[in-house]
Amino acid sequence: MKNTVAAYQKAFENYQPEGKVLDVYKYPSPVLKKVAKPILEFDDNLKELCLNMLHTMYHAPGIGLAAPQVGESIRLFVMDIDFNKDKVTNFDGTTESKLSNFNPLIFINPEITKSDEQVVHEEGCLSVPGVYEDVKRSAEITVKFQDWDGNSHTIDADKLLSVCIQHENDHLDGIIFLERLSMLKRNLLMKKYLKKKKKK
Ligand SMILES: [Zn+2]
Repeated sequence: MKNTVAAYQKAFENYQPEGKVLDVYKYPSPVLKKVAKPILEFDDNLKELCLNMLHTMYHAPGIGLAAPQVGESIRLFVMDIDFNKDKVTNFDGTTESKLSNFNPLIFINPEITKSDEQVVHEEGCLSVPGVYEDVKRSAEITVKFQDWDGNSHTIDADKLLSVCIQHENDHLDGIIFLERLSMLKRNLLMKKYLKKKKKK
């Protein structure tokens, strides 16, 4: 791995989640099916959206969140595959999760080059709650993207980072991870999910 993510993340060294918790759109919301538009303006509104998306992701908690999942059809996703989630018991016996060791990543206008080798990894999605399934993805990828100031970066990714980037990037093309499964499995899982959703 020659290019790592650490290089462009200096701004987030002392990151603590803050901002708004945004509504996460659930499948089958139309915004999740749209091909998202490139981001051309790197202004304060974009930074605010990034911070709110990170906060929403940690609040869930999840390891990745794409802009279409919060109703914004633009090419942006946030991610953290490193943070710790510890269950803490309070004096009154209630428990809460305490998050630490944040390593937030922001990808804007990503372009992915994929390797031929494949890996299988279990995936889930904040837009399809309660559904987890093994998905086949490229083992290694190279991603070209911009940070929130508009600077370009290129990184190599493998393992969970690679899988997660491919999952989030699919959201920008209107693709949900279930669509990466065989037709049979997909239909079965979607039927089950929609039935459960209706009951709520
Ligand atoms: Zn997802």
